[in-house]
Amino acid sequence: MGDIASVVLSNSTREFDREYHYSIPDNMKGMVVPGVRVIVPFGKANRSMEAYVLDVIDKTEFNELKEIRKVLDDSPVLGKQMIKLACWMKDKYICTYSDAIKCMVPPGIGVKSFCIVKLIKQDPDVGKSQKKLLDILSENNGECELEELKSRANIKGFSKQLDLLEKAGLVEICEEYTSRVKEKTVRVASLALPRDEIIEDIESGRIKRIQQIRILELLLDNEYIAVPDIVRFSGASAGVLDTLRKYGYIFYKDINVNRDPLGNKVVERAEPLTPTPQQEAVLNRVKAMMDRGKFAEALIHGVTGSGKTEVYMQLIQHCLNSGKQAIVLVPEISLTPQTVYRFKSRFGNDVAVQHSRLSLGERFDQWRLIKDGKIKVVVGTRSAVFAPLDKLGLIVIDEEHENSYKSEITPKYHAREVARERCMQEDAVLLYGSATPSIDTYYRAKNGEMEFLEMSSRANNMLLPTVEIIDMRNELDEGNRSIFSRRLAAEIARNIESGQQTILFLNRRGHASFVLCRSCGHTIKCTNCNVSLTYHSHDERLICHYCGYTVKNPSTCPKCGSNYIRHFGTGTQRVEEELKKQFPGCSVIRMDADTTTYKNSHEEILRAFREKNINIMVGTQMIAKGHDFPNVTLVGVLAADSLLNSGDYNSSERTFQLITQVAGRAGRGKIPGKVIIQTYNTEDFSILAACNHDYNSFYSQEIIMRNALYYPPFTNISTVILSGPNDKLVFSRAKELKDFIAGRLANAGDGVSVLGPARAPLTKIKNKYRWRIVIKQRDMDMLTALLREVSDAFYSKRQNSGVDLNIDINPANML
Ligand code: ADP
Ligand code: ZN
Ligand code: ZN
Repeated sequence: MGDIASVVLSNSTREFDREYHYSIPDNMKGMVVPGVRVIVPFGKANRSMEAYVLDVIDKTEFNELKEIRKVLDDSPVLGKQMIKLACWMKDKYICTYSDAIKCMVPPGIGVKSFCIVKLIKQDPDVGKSQKKLLDILSENNGECELEELKSRANIKGFSKQLDLLEKAGLVEICEEYTSRVKEKTVRVASLALPRDEIIEDIESGRIKRIQQIRILELLLDNEYIAVPDIVRFSGASAGVLDTLRKYGYIFYKDINVNRDPLGNKVVERAEPLTPTPQQEAVLNRVKAMMDRGKFAEALIHGVTGSGKTEVYMQLIQHCLNSGKQAIVLVPEISLTPQTVYRFKSRFGNDVAVQHSRLSLGERFDQWRLIKDGKIKVVVGTRSAVFAPLDKLGLIVIDEEHENSYKSEITPKYHAREVARERCMQEDAVLLYGSATPSIDTYYRAKNGEMEFLEMSSRANNMLLPTVEIIDMRNELDEGNRSIFSRRLAAEIARNIESGQQTILFLNRRGHASFVLCRSCGHTIKCTNCNVSLTYHSHDERLICHYCGYTVKNPSTCPKCGSNYIRHFGTGTQRVEEELKKQFPGCSVIRMDADTTTYKNSHEEILRAFREKNINIMVGTQMIAKGHDFPNVTLVGVLAADSLLNSGDYNSSERTFQLITQVAGRAGRGKIPGKVIIQTYNTEDFSILAACNHDYNSFYSQEIIMRNALYYPPFTNISTVILSGPNDKLVFSRAKELKDFIAGRLANAGDGVSVLGPARAPLTKIKNKYRWRIVIKQRDMDMLTALLREVSDAFYSKRQNSGVDLNIDINPANML
C-alpha cells in the first residue's frame, strides 16, 4: 500500500475542485484509507480543512508533500462504489466533487452522537452503586442518555461502574443520533419563499455564508426541521437561523411532534399474494434476469391497479433470498402511510423508509444502519438512490416518468441515470414501472435496449372512470362565458346536492401564459420549434423560449379572424371566486404552490378536504396524483389547453400523463367516477388518447413528432443560463458563450444545434436578468464534454464577475 493520499476538499468552490496529494504520517498508516475524512493543512496559510480520501497511492509527480493532520473516521464514510459514483457524477453533471459527495452522506456527518445506556437485565446481586444505575434505568423505561444517567446517579467512579455493568452484560451502551425529544410540541423552521427563488439565491451566490446555505439546503430537502436539529446538524448557531428569518427566507412554527405513525405499532406480517397469470409472467422474466447476476434493465408498463407493487415486493424477496439487497424509489407523494405499511408488513425490520419527514437524527441513524448492513431494503424518494447498500441486487423506480426524480439543485442529477450507473457498476438489475412511461424509457424499451413487460388488466377489478370531452368553443358560441361548461356546472351542482366531492384541476406553471382564440381554438406556435409562443405583457409580444423568435401579439385570430383571441391563464383564486358566485354556500378549498404551501402543509389541506367533507377542491399539479379520496366522484380539468400550450417540447407527454393521473382520482370508492375535460382543442391526440386510456396510440404519434423535430429521445437538450444584475453585460457574455459553442459544433451534423441566447422563461429573478442558450446534441458524451469546456471557459475568465452560469442537462421543464 502506498503512503500518499489523494484527497478532495469537503466544501470546495470550483477553483479548488481537484485531487490534492498529501503524505500519510507513519502513525496514521492503515487508518487513512479511501472513503475516510481527514483534516489537511491547505493553502499558503495552512488552514485546517476537511477532506475526503479518494485513493491511496505510491507515487506522485509533486514533491514536498504536506502531511495529513488528523483522521476523522474509524471506517470509510464513502464506500468504494460511492467514490466511483461521485467521480462519475462530477463528470456527468459538471459539478464539483463536494457537490456529488454531499448527495451520498447525510447532513451533519461530524455531529456528536448521544450515548444511550440500555438496560439488558436486572441483577439483585450487584454492588450498591451499580444497583443504583440499574434502578434509574428501569425507572426510565430501560434507557437513559449517558450524561443524564451520570448526573442523576451522582456516584463516585461512574465510568468504571458502568464499564463493569457493560462487561457483565447487564447494560448496553449504544451510539444514537436521534435526540430523545420529550416535549409534545417543538419549534420547527420551514422555507418561507418559493423553492425556485431560494435555489436561485444559492446558485447565484447571492447567499454567500456557507452556514446559511447549509441550512437552506437542509430545508429544501425537508418540509420542516426542528430548530435544535438544524443547529446541531448544520453546525450553525441559532443566530444564523434568526438572520435567515429576518431576511424572510424561513419562518418558525410550533407543531405537534409527529411521531412515525407506524413507529410503535406492531405491523402485522403479510404473506405474498398468489400472483395473477400476468404477474407470474412478469415475475418469471425479471427473476431470470436477476439470476444471471449481470446488469440489465426492464420496464413494466402496467395500468394503475395492475399489481405492480405486489410484483416489486416479490422480486425484492427473490433478491433477499439470494443474499442481495434492494432499493425502491418512489415519488414523494406516493409515500403514503398505506405504501409504507405494505412494505413494512412484508419486510419487517429489514426495510428502511426514507422520506422528508424523518428528523435529521433519524435519517442519520438510518444511514448508519444501512452502512452497517442491518437494512436490506430501502424505500425512499430520489435521494434513496444513494443508499449505501453494499450488496445491491435490484433497484426499482416506480412511476419512473415523474419529474421529481430530477434534482432541481446542483448537482442536477436524474435518479434514473444515477440508478442506471450504479446498477451497471454493481451488476444489479434496474426495473422501471409506470402506467404512463416516459417517452424516453418507452422508446428505449421498444428499441430492445431493455426487457419490455406489460400488465394490462387490473388486479382488483376496479373500473376505470368514464371520461368526457367538452368543446369550449361551443360554449362561447352558445353564449356561455363562464369558466365552467354547462355540463360541468350541472355535475358540480349535482355533487354538492348529493354530498359527494369534486376536484377541479387547473394547470399553472406560474409564469407561462399563451395566446388562444376562443372561437376556433387556434394557438400561435413558433415556426422553428413547434412549441407555443409565450405571452409577455410588458411589451405585448409573443416569444419562443427555445430560439428567441418573437412576434407582436395579434389583435385578431390569424386563422378565423375572430377578435376573441387573448392570452390565457386563469388562477385557482379566480376559480374559487367563480365557484362561490355560481354555487352559493358551497365549501371550497384551494391548493396551489403560490399561496397555501408556505403556511399550511399539504397534508393539512388534504386532511381537511377529506375529513370535513368539503364540496370542492381546486388545485394545480400537486393534487393530481397519489391521493386516495373515496368520496370524490367527479374530476374536472378546467383548461386542458394550458397543459398543451405550455411552450415546452414535452407538453403533449405531460398532458397525457396528467389527464391519466387526475382521472385516476375519480371513483376510488364504490361509486364509479366521472371525468370532464374542458378544452378548445378537442382533436388533440394526447387528450383523446388519455380519454381512451390508450398509451400506445399516444406514443406512436408523439414519437413521430419528436423524431421530425429533433427532440429527445432523438437528441439531448441542455440549457445554459446566464444571469446577473446588468442586462447588457449578461447578454454579451451569453452571446460570447453562444459563439464559442457554435464554433465547437460547426459541422457536427444533423440534430446538433445551438439556439439563442434568448431571454429565459423566467426573464428576471430577484433583479437578475436571465438569458438562455439551448444546445441540442444527440451524442451524450460529446455533450458533456462540450459543457465541461463551456464551464471551464466561463470560470477561467475573471471578468465574468457579476454574471452567474447555470447548466442543466435534459431539464425536466424547459420553462
Ligand atoms: P399498482 O402498484 O400497479 O397500482 P398494486 O400492487 O397496488 O397495483 O395493486 C392494486 C390492488 O390489487 C391492491 O389492492 C393489491 O392488494 C391488489 N392485488 C395485487 N396483486 C394481487 C393478487 N395477485 N391477488 C389479489 N389482489 C392483488
Ligand atoms: Zn380563431
Ligand atoms: Zn422557436
